[in-house]
Amino acid sequence: MNRGLTRLANVRHARCMRSDDTMKQRMRTPGRVAIIGAGHVGATFAFALVRSGAAAEVVIVDIDPARAEGEAMDLDHVVPFGRPVRIEVGGYEACAGADVVVITAGAGDLRKGETRLDLAVRNAIVFREVVPRVVDAAPDAVFVVATNPVDVMTMLTRELAGIASSRVMGSGTVLDTARLRFLLAKRFDVDAANVHAHVIGEHGDSEVIAWSTANVGGVQLDELVTPIPFDDVERDAMARTTREAAYEVIARKGYTSFAIAGALVRIVTAIMRDERAVLSVSSPVSGAYGLTGVCLSLPSIVGRDGVERVLNLALDVPERVALARSAEAIRASAVSAGLDAFTSRERAR
Ligand code: NAD
Repeated sequence: MNRGLTRLANVRHARCMRSDDTMKQRMRTPGRVAIIGAGHVGATFAFALVRSGAAAEVVIVDIDPARAEGEAMDLDHVVPFGRPVRIEVGGYEACAGADVVVITAGAGDLRKGETRLDLAVRNAIVFREVVPRVVDAAPDAVFVVATNPVDVMTMLTRELAGIASSRVMGSGTVLDTARLRFLLAKRFDVDAANVHAHVIGEHGDSEVIAWSTANVGGVQLDELVTPIPFDDVERDAMARTTREAAYEVIARKGYTSFAIAGALVRIVTAIMRDERAVLSVSSPVSGAYGLTGVCLSLPSIVGRDGVERVLNLALDVPERVALARSAEAIRASAVSAGLDAFTSRERAR
């Protein structure tokens, strides 16, 4: 082999080594996940996580230790059907060594006559107790918040945790996006994996569907040939069904659990395997679309260090206006829940 080719071969070899190392790091051994709150969401997520094989160790913490223990015992008995996973229970200190901490703890769901804001105030009391103690135990973990109102609770967690901002995210609209993709997949009779669409903004009533960028396999929705055109009336109905899905499920079974558990497994897997997957998690907006001072959902690259980058969707004007309105709804809710300092500090950045 001549010298030039040898050098070329060496360079290629070095490049392969580098990408092999990166791949190895990405595919590293499944680690330790701590789950705070073993209610409907926490327990269902624990089950889905154990079945997924994405974690080697799962720690369950609940203010009701018997409940955590019962769930852990039940989960122990599912381990023989899959990959080995060690299930532990304990206090907040048991989170030590966790790669990811998922917070689902909350003071129950909406009570009769209560607003979402009342729920934020009640859950803020829980978070002020939980977050500092868990951060003490697991200062290097990435934190994923599921407790509602999730955007406000993500802001509060960032405020209380005092760790790099990228390492705190909310499950945001990952669930709403899945609901939308399910509906679009059914409507166009394709695999949901080939539906690319995002719900952005608040995980809640002011959420926004980025219709202008939605596509199936790269083809815009209004260019897809179907016997009945996908018109504005149908689009609005689909937006409403997506937005109100949780209320419909809760009206029938009393709570939601499976889909949020699936969303959490997706987020946690992306972190643990350093997938750099694009997911619509909730994180602080810092100037995108002229917005600051709140956490909300936008498609973001999620990897080992948390939210690695927030992507800029080419939104049309009505979508930008709706997103600004959504940010305002979150901000109002956050301020009323006592997070004024967060919103003004983030705005000043
Ligand atoms: P749940 O009442 O069944 O469970 C909450 C659990 O938190 C209970 O087991 C409770 O004992 C525990 N807990 C309370 N205080 C605690 C503390 N200080 N430390 C440890 N544990 C504590 O409620 P759920 O149905 O599991 O819902 C949990 C949260 O998830 C709610 O806020 C709900 O609105 C939210 N949720 C979010 C999404 C989403 O997409 N983000 C979807 C569904 C539900």
